[in-house]
Amino acid sequence: MCGIIGKIGKVNCMKDVLEGLKKLEYRGYDSAGVAVFTDEGVKRVRAVGNISALEEKLAGTNLDGRLAVGHSRWATNGNVTEKNAHPHRAGRFTVVHNGIIENAAALKTAYFENDAFESDTDTEVAAKLLDKFYDGDAGRAIRQAQRLMTGSWALGILCDDCPGTLFAAANGSPLLIVKTESGNYIASDAGAAPDPIEVTKVENCEYAAVTADGYTVYNENGDALQKAPLAVAAGALSLDKGGYDHYMMSEIMQQPEAVRRTLEALPDSDFIGDAKEIRLIACGSAYHAGLVGARLFEAVRRIPARAEIASEFRYADPIIGRETLCIFISQSGETADTLAALRLAKEKGAPTLSIVNVPGSAIATESDRVILTQAGREIAVATTKAYSAQLAVFYALALGRSEALSRLPEAIYTAIAENDGKCRRLAERIAGCRNIFFIGRQLDNAVSQEGSLKMKEISYLNSQAYAAGELKHGTISLVEPGSPVIATVTDPAILSKTMSNLHEVKARGAFTIVITTRALAPGLEADVTLTVPDVGPMLAPSVAVIPMQLMSYYTAKALGCEIDKPRNLAKSVTVE
Ligand code: GLU
Repeated sequence: MCGIIGKIGKVNCMKDVLEGLKKLEYRGYDSAGVAVFTDEGVKRVRAVGNISALEEKLAGTNLDGRLAVGHSRWATNGNVTEKNAHPHRAGRFTVVHNGIIENAAALKTAYFENDAFESDTDTEVAAKLLDKFYDGDAGRAIRQAQRLMTGSWALGILCDDCPGTLFAAANGSPLLIVKTESGNYIASDAGAAPDPIEVTKVENCEYAAVTADGYTVYNENGDALQKAPLAVAAGALSLDKGGYDHYMMSEIMQQPEAVRRTLEALPDSDFIGDAKEIRLIACGSAYHAGLVGARLFEAVRRIPARAEIASEFRYADPIIGRETLCIFISQSGETADTLAALRLAKEKGAPTLSIVNVPGSAIATESDRVILTQAGREIAVATTKAYSAQLAVFYALALGRSEALSRLPEAIYTAIAENDGKCRRLAERIAGCRNIFFIGRQLDNAVSQEGSLKMKEISYLNSQAYAAGELKHGTISLVEPGSPVIATVTDPAILSKTMSNLHEVKARGAFTIVITTRALAPGLEADVTLTVPDVGPMLAPSVAVIPMQLMSYYTAKALGCEIDKPRNLAKSVTVE
């Protein structure tokens, strides 16, 4: 989730690039770097750590120019070191990159077997490709490189021979051209440039040549395009939307970072103690996170655990006491029913722990102990990143820290990159349907509940989630020819059972979609297969939910719904 920025103007612009970079820092802060065109050619400075570390290195260098690029890194390929920090250079090209070039290793073998590489990044391979195909025409080199690469990228490119042009190219990672009074920017997020006059998105396989006076966007064949600028008034694109049409999409993209920060901030402390029983109490998506938590506490810690809906719990005269750990989950920390349930649990003498995203909120303040998720401000009513951060907390509590858990943010990132296009296409099909069904068993069922809620809350289509084995006890009567049934199968132990249920609905004409891992996908029969990285069955909800979120988002978009503010809903539910 790196941030890239570039500016070309009539006066020196290093200050503007650094300012913009600070606004992009939420996208990653492993290392930062800049490259600038000076009278003596392109110079770069890079530093491990955040932008202030870079500023310290730059102080006193007087490095400046009218054309510069900057990068804040969230490492995906190669450790967090200065040599892996962007910009990367090869021959006459200097590159900043957001994304993952998935076939970097194959390209390295095919084209650069005998070459020395400066870094361990995929990005350097892109720089090398540009240099390899350069024959005096940077556009041609970019086209050629884009044709060969697979994966995702937003690239900011400087060519030693073109001091008056900032090049950029994109596929799967956000890239905007922002026209301002003082010059033209490229950026991962329009909020990085002050007072935009016009914002234009560089779409997949396109590339752009930006000068101090204007810009041209080209398609993959090198034809100049007439692009319509995004329909936003100057200044209307806020930082949080990250150049996307909706906060929800921007928040979907922020999930790797939300999970990573949450895990980093989580204290290494025993939150479970000697609890004999655990209740997880919440509403909506937080309740769905609780379903995952309960399953994990039972399966792994062997502590009886169950998730409960706060509005039910508070009136159920629950049988709880000193040995029942009550965990309250709420993004806002203000959810009325959850707060009331918390007060009830305290009255009954149960120890309380809350998992909330807003420090200082009522639930955070009133519970005995609190874990803060670090999802950042969530604006879209349909939660994505707060839910993901809550799941991360449960993994750490129930399973403990592990290598696999520390790699989870990267896996979520890959799940987004690999499913975005497919889900967009699938959404057109789903948008025409009346009833949608999500099925799964155990954790796959828990995450399906969330997927189904996402779908109905923003697309207004009738969507239901069922334990896969339960469908035939009634609900299957709703399945009509063409009804989408989305089965999640991430656990090999129960795969064949869920697949049998999927075949049962297929036999009744359903349109079947399977969400599964790369390892399990071969041999699974469905109309459409969506694959997510293999993170093991326990962590799978975090990657399985990604295609569900994307399908919901694009379905709602195809139907023209108000995605960020769905009808009848509000972000924090402070009424009973
Ligand atoms: N893959 C590049 C790197 O590891 C860019 C990372 C990103 O965009 O997150 O440096």
